[in-house]
Amino acid sequence: MSIPNVATFHYALRDKDGNEIDNSSEKGPISIMLGKGHIVQGLDELLPTMKKGEKKSVVIPPEKGYGVVDESLRLKVPRNQFPPDADVKLRMQFQTSDEPGAPLFTVMHIDEDGFVYVDGNHPLAGHDLHFDIEIVDMRPADPDEIAHGHAHGPGGHQH
Ligand code: ZN
Repeated sequence: MSIPNVATFHYALRDKDGNEIDNSSEKGPISIMLGKGHIVQGLDELLPTMKKGEKKSVVIPPEKGYGVVDESLRLKVPRNQFPPDADVKLRMQFQTSDEPGAPLFTVMHIDEDGFVYVDGNHPLAGHDLHFDIEIVDMRPADPDEIAHGHAHGPGGHQH
């Protein structure tokens, strides 16, 4: 079995119009064990090809990002199907299941007739992801990390 690499990197994520969605400049670089699906597939494929100190700008399509839009996750739900004490309001997020990977629904619209429109797609589903990546460090995972299945240290798990 080969030892996975841990990449520590800075990133900036923009949409197709150049609006910044997220970046690591304030939080500091993140450390990820590669090849484990801990990041979107496009990055999990790109990062192993990069070296310490290297910078790259890439566009990752939805299929290798947060997925294509699944219309079946866009639902119109009567308000009375929510718990009576739920404070249903715009942008509220909820899950209908505790299973790992269960969709996180967001309330997108509430109409006058008592219907709540929810969307269980990732907010970036269907979007091209414009990433700027800078590799700060690239090293083999240590035995603890291999045992845990994730990266430790800056930007990784701290324990
Ligand atoms: Zn751990």
